[in-house]
Amino acid sequence: MARRIAFLFLISFTFHVAALPQGPPAGVRPVVVQGAMRSETEKLASNLDNVSIERVGGWTFWRGTLDGYPVIVSRTLKGIANAAAATAIAIERYNPIAIINQGTAGGHEPGLRLYDIVLGNSAVSLGAFKTPYRPAGAGSNALDWVPLNLMASDGSAGNDSSARKVARFPGDTVLLAVAQRAARLHTRGRVVDGVIGSSDMWIDEIDLIERFHTKYGTSVEDMETASAAQIAGLFHVAFLGIRVVSDNTTNGEPYEPKTGEACEEYVYQVVKAYVATLAR
Ligand code: SAH
Repeated sequence: MARRIAFLFLISFTFHVAALPQGPPAGVRPVVVQGAMRSETEKLASNLDNVSIERVGGWTFWRGTLDGYPVIVSRTLKGIANAAAATAIAIERYNPIAIINQGTAGGHEPGLRLYDIVLGNSAVSLGAFKTPYRPAGAGSNALDWVPLNLMASDGSAGNDSSARKVARFPGDTVLLAVAQRAARLHTRGRVVDGVIGSSDMWIDEIDLIERFHTKYGTSVEDMETASAAQIAGLFHVAFLGIRVVSDNTTNGEPYEPKTGEACEEYVYQVVKAYVATLAR
């Protein structure tokens, strides 16, 4: 009788333990995956397990797990300021081991087709320039502008000659290698290494795009990657930008929002491969 009671107790205990929610182990540093818009984050968030939603100011974070490892999807909102703030909040609140910023982007070279994906071996700021002096009535020409690296020194950016170069933020080589290995899982286009340029502008001037492409090597432009990379760098958090071509004014391909979902599917595979390499 006593043995039977002990056996029943053991069975019920086993079932009880099995029914506990499978939350992430405490103390494990999560992977944060960022996207600016619903069309760049919804699929990723819905593919996490054990999801809880946290809202901080205007930003939303979906905390969950992927293959048992903690992963957080962050909707950064669009643009440089929003992405920078979302990155700082994520780092302060969740202490991530790595951040992937992903989503759509506009092509800077005609050979890049819709659904091609660019892995950012670096990201550059296309939003900081010094203009030459022009008197009243002389108009404006962005092709004359000189880049400013606002991280270069503490002095006046406008007068410091060492600041007159583009601000460039490297992608993490480990994340990049994992993403390269996952390339075969993206079947709708190619996966290439490249440079992601970011500003609060949508640029459709072919001459300006050509200048950025030849001077800084930009493959695509977006509105978030370089700012998130800058903040991640200041906190020494590993970072990679992954951008799908959603439009390309250099070859006339118009904006296709469905490309965002294809990027999410590929990034899901990258995160899956990355967390498989991490201790838990
Ligand atoms: N039709 C969309 C447009 C997106 S705006 C809308 O109405 O909301 C730009 C967003 O898409 C930014 O988050 C940016 O990162 C990305 N993006 C895609 N193509 C871009 C381009 N050619 N230039 C700049 N940002 C681009």
